[in-house]
Amino acid sequence: MTQQTRRGVCLVISAPSGAGKSTIANALRASEPSLSHSISVTTRSPRPGEVEGVHYHFRDMETFRGMAQNGELLEWAEVFGRGYGTPRAPVEAALEAGQDMVFDIDWQGHRLLREAMPDDVVSLFVLPPSLEELERRLHKRASDDPSEIAKRMKAALDEISHWSEFDHTIINSDLDKAISQARSVLTAAKLSTRRQRNLTQMVASFSRD
Ligand code: 5GP
Repeated sequence: MTQQTRRGVCLVISAPSGAGKSTIANALRASEPSLSHSISVTTRSPRPGEVEGVHYHFRDMETFRGMAQNGELLEWAEVFGRGYGTPRAPVEAALEAGQDMVFDIDWQGHRLLREAMPDDVVSLFVLPPSLEELERRLHKRASDDPSEIAKRMKAALDEISHWSEFDHTIINSDLDKAISQARSVLTAAKLSTRRQRNLTQMVASFSRD
């Protein structure tokens, strides 16, 4: 009897820039071998230390728009005037194979991904403990200049205004606690009954008739 695997989970993590979502997503991946990261396509330039195919697929606007038109992106948006999108093929392959994926995308991406894959998305919003703390964290980021920080502060407030669209919300005041809470959300999603139709045959075999 072939036992099908359960379907994978699309775990979307959104937050204002500086709230710690990448750190949380990376920590989850480090402890969950079956979890892979959806690598987005972007038209922005790589920041120091960012590697093609690891942090993003860096493409020019023409290539990006071509991918969007050909249906190669599950969702895409323009943020800060730059294109960002989620490649479709790796996500579909992973979910079929029972592998979970984590998405570090914004509220627009969450909305569109949810529309594209309503049964697969479980979402988590990460709030900073306070606006002052968010501002402090944004200032610590050496790669952003002051005008970029001001732009991101405005964008952060916009991002936060969408928090109630998400299934789960955590406050990142203690990183270890936030990671453990995010892990609990993923575990519960993996255990949802609708994702474990592969158990149908096993449960049927429990019958005495
Ligand atoms: P950054 O340039 O700092 O890496 O990302 C800027 C924003 O774009 C972040 O809010 C990030 O979550 C969002 N983003 C990254 N990848 C995607 C994507 O594939 N789709 C969407 N909609 N947003 C994305």
